[in-house]
Amino acid sequence: MSTTLTVTSTSWITPIVRRIALRTDDLSAFADSVFTDRYVKLAFPKPGVEYPQPLDVKALRGSIPPEDLPDVRTYTALFPDVAAGTLAIDFVVHGDEGIAGPWAARAEIGDTLVLDGPGGAYRPDPTADWHLIAGDESALPAIIAALEALDPDATARVVLQVQKPGYEPSLTLPRDARVSYVYREGGDRDGALLPAIRDLDWPAGRVHAFVHGEAHAVMHEVRPYLLEERGLPRADVSISGYWREGRDESGFREWKSQLSRAEAAAS
Ligand SMILES: Cc1cc2nc3c(=O)[nH]c(=O)nc-3n(C[C@H](O)[C@H](O)[C@H](O)COP(=O)(O)OP(=O)(O)OC[C@H]3O[C@@H](n4cnc5c(N)ncnc54)[C@H](O)[C@@H]3O)c2cc1C
Repeated sequence: MSTTLTVTSTSWITPIVRRIALRTDDLSAFADSVFTDRYVKLAFPKPGVEYPQPLDVKALRGSIPPEDLPDVRTYTALFPDVAAGTLAIDFVVHGDEGIAGPWAARAEIGDTLVLDGPGGAYRPDPTADWHLIAGDESALPAIIAALEALDPDATARVVLQVQKPGYEPSLTLPRDARVSYVYREGGDRDGALLPAIRDLDWPAGRVHAFVHGEAHAVMHEVRPYLLEERGLPRADVSISGYWREGRDESGFREWKSQLSRAEAAAS
């Protein structure tokens, strides 16, 4: 079901992450949403194309030329409040390229955004002995939601990749949590998450892991480390790419399909 929301406020939570607060009269699609990585599909109308209103990408498929369909981008919905009809989305503003990042950089109170969802698959397991939570700024909203869902006594190790020193967000942490920051600028861009995860003190017991971010770093570096070297059960690891360096979201979807096909052929 598509929902149209209106921007009610904007703020920068780091120098490159802009929080857009939104409101609608009907947020009932979120009533049963229990996942902390709850994601939504945002629809950005193509300039110059007239669409039937309300905008509904699924209903449009097959009825207009594919090149006229709105651009779709995937984001994490934060703090949904069904009664108040409010939620927030934290956008990485990663330059002039793309659709969603530049939209967020320019967004003003009164602008509208159409979304579909939510989906999701992860919520920290309260029976785990500790939690590994890692990613770059694209996963920051899901990381913020996961940390807020943890018991105050939970043990967590957080690894967050940000642009450079001074770009760290403010996080609400359980008592036994440690955060390691890694920085893209001046370091090995794709390698930064894994060395920091390797360096963790690795508490005893069963770990529930959540790792998302740039796809090569997450899927080709961190994933083999967790599943093969550390031997974590697949069911205890939520891991996937959220974007791919050098590809827009549709190119990234193709990258993911190729990876799935290659892995299916190899198994
Ligand atoms: C389940 C899920 C949840 C997500 N949640 C969020 C979220 O809450 N907040 C968020 O900011 N992102 C989130 N993402 C990532 C987001 O969907 C992508 O970053 C998306 O490509 C951004 O669209 P765009 O139109 O700005 O750029 P695109 O048009 O898709 O890409 C244009 C160029 O920008 C590059 N690029 C894209 N994203 C980034 C980035 N983060 N940093 C540097 N360069 C980039 C691309 O490689 C490409 O070269 C999520 C992704 C998934 C799958």
